[in-house]
Amino acid sequence: MHLSFYGAAGEVTGSCYHLQTSRASILIDFGLHQGGPGPERRNRRLPPIDFKRLDAVVLSHAHLDHCGRLPLLPGASFGAGGGGGGGGGGGGRGRIWATPGTIALCDIMLRDAAAVQQIQITDDSRRRTRLGRIPPAPLYGLPEVEAVLTLFSPLNYRQPIEVADGVTAITHDAGHLIGSASIELRIKEDRSSAERVLVFSADIGERGSPLLEDPAPPLAPPPADTLILESTYGDRNHKPLDQTLDEFARILNDARASGGKILIPSFAVGRTQQLIYHLGELHRAGKLKPIPIYIDSPMARAATALYANFDNLFDEPAHNLARAGIDPLHFKGLRFVATSAESRALNDADGIVVIAASGMCTGGRILHHIKHNIWNPATHMIFVGFQGRGTLGRRIVDGDKRITVLGTPMAVKAQIHTLGGFSAHAGQTGLLEWAGQVIRGANDHGGGAARPGVAASPPRTFLTHGEDGPRAALAAALSQRYRVNAHLPVWGETVEL
Ligand SMILES: [Zn+2]
Repeated sequence: MHLSFYGAAGEVTGSCYHLQTSRASILIDFGLHQGGPGPERRNRRLPPIDFKRLDAVVLSHAHLDHCGRLPLLPGASFGAGGGGGGGGGGGGRGRIWATPGTIALCDIMLRDAAAVQQIQITDDSRRRTRLGRIPPAPLYGLPEVEAVLTLFSPLNYRQPIEVADGVTAITHDAGHLIGSASIELRIKEDRSSAERVLVFSADIGERGSPLLEDPAPPLAPPPADTLILESTYGDRNHKPLDQTLDEFARILNDARASGGKILIPSFAVGRTQQLIYHLGELHRAGKLKPIPIYIDSPMARAATALYANFDNLFDEPAHNLARAGIDPLHFKGLRFVATSAESRALNDADGIVVIAASGMCTGGRILHHIKHNIWNPATHMIFVGFQGRGTLGRRIVDGDKRITVLGTPMAVKAQIHTLGGFSAHAGQTGLLEWAGQVIRGANDHGGGAARPGVAASPPRTFLTHGEDGPRAALAAALSQRYRVNAHLPVWGETVEL
């Protein structure tokens, strides 16, 4: 069988793998390339796969860099052709398999992605028309999103399902986002051949998050033959969470004392729910002085309600709160802003916290708040997430004193803070520990190791979903710790397994 890498190979976005066995054709993730016009142009070029003969897609989670190109599938006649057979476990061909949490989140994320594209295209069209150029079409719209949403089938954690002839998929909680999964594929090329096991880590969460479960490694025998491991933070560890929370409370209390407005750009899904949980805990512990906190994002509001529906997936500290009758995703002083009129009304208020998307200040309501406040020295802006190269958020974090917001040049006089400890991705140590359990799984079944912690026959390992610096650092660490020689694939590379 062959595995091809069509994204997240030497970069962190565009996650997409194609697996071709003698009996089945499977896609794992189909994410958007993100990070400005250059990478985004690549979304229009489909990978060289016969989509008609594709039997199934297995999706790891609902972040757009993993699911954002799925609405292109109906237009590419996904699963419409003959051959392959497949879907022996039920559901038939042409299905997208994902956990129930991921399916519910995709409904929010993909509809929003279509709406955001429509806004961007409208802006772009005006500019291009003025230049006498042909206006672009959006990558997809709401009809394509609605068509693809009908193709999803649930794949519960740890419940094997045959998604195509000879390919059984099993998901394991990756602790990265509600519904996020690592994917284990067990493959039998024909009835007489031995079962082969491929493990895709997808995005691995940080251990110790009180809201989401710790990432669970695939521990079931047989051991993995192949491991595809993410490497986003393969070269570093994050600051401990308790230190980050102390710093967060101190900044918020100091800013409150100075009376200005506090702006926090945040991804609507995942990061905002994490912030609500932590702010609630700081508030209940008396570490945070009373201050009104507004979540100004309709998508964050929808995602927070959705998280509550999946509270069975929460980690122990959040469960304990719920058992004590405390909503882990609510506290006194927290308000959700619904309409844009309510959002505008916040312009005149001081002494409040506004949490709004987008997390990197590339769009959304945060731009209006920046425009109305960043010139004011009493304003505080707290960055709680990664800021990609070329984004407005990155320019502010890097100390630019003059920026352009919604077409208006502005001076940056606000006080800027960055907090590095809220990552949804494991750092190097977390990745090594998670990978170690997969690698030791091979060791436990390999007839003994040369020395403890080193696999007798480790899985063939590929590092993806990381820029070249971090994945080279992770490769060196894997080699030193487990004597595993990881391969760093490039876009379009196909390997025989
Ligand atoms: Zn992710």
